[in-house]
Amino acid sequence: MLHNIFANVAESAGYGEIKTPLIEDLGVFARIGDATDVVTKEMYDFHDKGERHVALRPELTASVCRSFAQHRPTPPWKVWYAGSNFRYEKPQRGRYRQFDQVGLEVLGVDDPDLDVEVIALGWEFYRRLGLTEVNLIINSLGEPDDRARYVEALRGYFAAAGEGLTEQSRETLQRNPLRVLDSKREHDAPCIASAPTIAEFYSAEAADHFAGVQAGLRMLGIPFKVETKLVRGLDYYRRTIFEFQGSTLDSAQKALGGGGRYDGLVEALGGPATPGIGFALGVDRTLLACDDEGVFCLEPRRLDAFVVDTTGGVEAVAITAELRANGFAADRAFDGRSMKAQMKLANRSGASVAVIIGSDEVEAGTVVVKPMEAGIDQQTILRNDLIPHLNELKDQ
Ligand code: AMP
Repeated sequence: MLHNIFANVAESAGYGEIKTPLIEDLGVFARIGDATDVVTKEMYDFHDKGERHVALRPELTASVCRSFAQHRPTPPWKVWYAGSNFRYEKPQRGRYRQFDQVGLEVLGVDDPDLDVEVIALGWEFYRRLGLTEVNLIINSLGEPDDRARYVEALRGYFAAAGEGLTEQSRETLQRNPLRVLDSKREHDAPCIASAPTIAEFYSAEAADHFAGVQAGLRMLGIPFKVETKLVRGLDYYRRTIFEFQGSTLDSAQKALGGGGRYDGLVEALGGPATPGIGFALGVDRTLLACDDEGVFCLEPRRLDAFVVDTTGGVEAVAITAELRANGFAADRAFDGRSMKAQMKLANRSGASVAVIIGSDEVEAGTVVVKPMEAGIDQQTILRNDLIPHLNELKDQ
């Protein structure tokens, strides 16, 4: 259901579904960047029987870019996906070693209006689910040159901070100064709060692009906050990045989903230089947020009919198939249970009616339709009239 809602949102904006493999060559994911935990610490990688070094996918963006580089569709290429990912993390509420994401990516467009479209589609998904406690935060990481200058400034600033940073953050600093900004450790907070911000390093193009994104979001009435210290995990991001945060979730797991603009990834995977943008939304955390907010879109579909067959089961095979072929949700009992046991199951199933057939009915060419609601009489009808009769009941 949740996947259907996402599919509807994406397909109504011209995105087509893509299915990428669960296992790919390790190199595909390694391109995400060697300064990210996802690549260095969390990958499930192994050698297969042919001595290929492969990995379970930790995310889907790299596979989408690999697919683009391999098949060269005409840009703009707009795709959406849903599926499982694997990361070797410390499991806790909202953080698992296997988790599901829905997401989308667009390759081949540089226009800030596209950033707005992509963010708005994520926003629309949460809106359709009925979630209201979702905050959108955005930032721009500037152009690669801006970002490089910023990273050097951060490196200098944090290196001078010494004991002002925890040992873990000093370690992170060696690998990627940007990731220090992501630290949730209390001891690091004052030092991070006074760190230089990326906005001081924007080129004119990067500043224009970011202004365009903000203007578009305002035009659509989508509330957002600019958070200059938002960096996000993966190395390949540039310009716009964003995160949807659920305010009902624990702070370490409050990111419901996020994404951003990237380039260089398609090229690194053997394709032409191609701009890209996309997001991935965590299904597990979204469901936790649905629980927290008491909105649950996943109403189980009610059965229309439960077939009760006392002839041994052959009639139930035919009637259940006929009901399903005519669009009714139907189920039945198995293992030759007694009439009483079957009626109990029919009751428990929540079906609107029981369709009952025994040897007398077979002989007479009839069935008994018994509404499960108390106080409504059962009716014996011709077997051939079953479908029109149920349609009539549905319309009442
Ligand atoms: P990322 O691919 O790291 O940008 O993550 C995007 C979204 O996927 C996050 O905001 C989470 O909702 C979800 N996510 C990432 N890692 C996990 C995990 N280990 N367990 C559950 N959800 C996750």
